[in-house]
Amino acid sequence: MTRDYLRIATEEAFAPKELFDMYRKVLQGPDPDPGFVSLFGFYMNSPSERAQHIMNCLSDLGPQRLQHMDDCGIDRQIMALTSPGVQIFDADTAVAFARVANDELAEAVRRHPTRYSGMIAVAPQRPAEAAKEIERGLQMGLTGVIINSHTQGEYLSDPKFWDIFAAAEAANTPIYLHPNTAPRNMIQPFLECGLDGAIYGFGVETGLHALRIITAGVFDRFPKLQMIIGHMGEALPFWAYRLDYMHEATVRSNRYLTVKALKKKPSDYLRENFYITNSGVAWEPAIKFSQQVLGADRVMYAMDYPYQHVKAEVDTLDAMAMDAADKKRFFQTNAENAFHLPKA
Ligand code: MN
Repeated sequence: MTRDYLRIATEEAFAPKELFDMYRKVLQGPDPDPGFVSLFGFYMNSPSERAQHIMNCLSDLGPQRLQHMDDCGIDRQIMALTSPGVQIFDADTAVAFARVANDELAEAVRRHPTRYSGMIAVAPQRPAEAAKEIERGLQMGLTGVIINSHTQGEYLSDPKFWDIFAAAEAANTPIYLHPNTAPRNMIQPFLECGLDGAIYGFGVETGLHALRIITAGVFDRFPKLQMIIGHMGEALPFWAYRLDYMHEATVRSNRYLTVKALKKKPSDYLRENFYITNSGVAWEPAIKFSQQVLGADRVMYAMDYPYQHVKAEVDTLDAMAMDAADKKRFFQTNAENAFHLPKA
């Protein structure tokens, strides 16, 4: 079958090998974060085929990754430091290791410029340093900023983090808000039933984070800022009607100091300030619904390699009954636009 589009996968994970040594120290330290224990305590220690495959793939930026891309028909991966990245560390370690990770990723992009793109990891623990690292990353040929949701229970809706938004907006580069396990004060009901991970907990926590950013007025303050959320927009398109109704009703009834009038409806910000990806959701009805709600120029492809490394899903998505121009937007041109990639 011939195709007139490239497949650009936009939420693909990597991790320098040294990161796992540092993660082991965190896990062995005093009172480690329960979500982190559930996530990397599992992946780094489980003998299961799934965990071994993921660990084996994450730190490879060479022939194996390229072979896996070829096998699945992925033309380009846009990679990001895997969750929780540096956000689990103390601030000094986080700032220093973000640089190490970005140097390694930029080097891989230089070696394979037609196959790899990479996002800039930052340490939200130090917003001013994060802003500097965005500049440095762009100069090294990286594009977009990866933030793995909350940072030790703190959310980007807090204005103390807004130097990061200012830097991304000024540099005209998007922020990918990727899931993390829920913070300590949220995770218990998820952990006790085993639903804290990608099955559900990730989406709940990250959807909440994106919504907090919207309702805090971030896009009134930074109207040109673009963000990206995966997993069908962490279900926010499905919520859009009720978010609009209840936000207006909440503002009108003066119920919370934290829910203030915004210039636009919550769904307007979703349409104008967000791209979403279908990472982990190779499901035509959800993709078409999101295109209908957000516009076909706002929904793009991701595989979520290596966490969901499934060739059959590529075939499923190729076969979607969709206007050819919209399918090309989905697989290729929306990613080129969102990440300012060289046009193929
Ligand atoms: Mn992911």
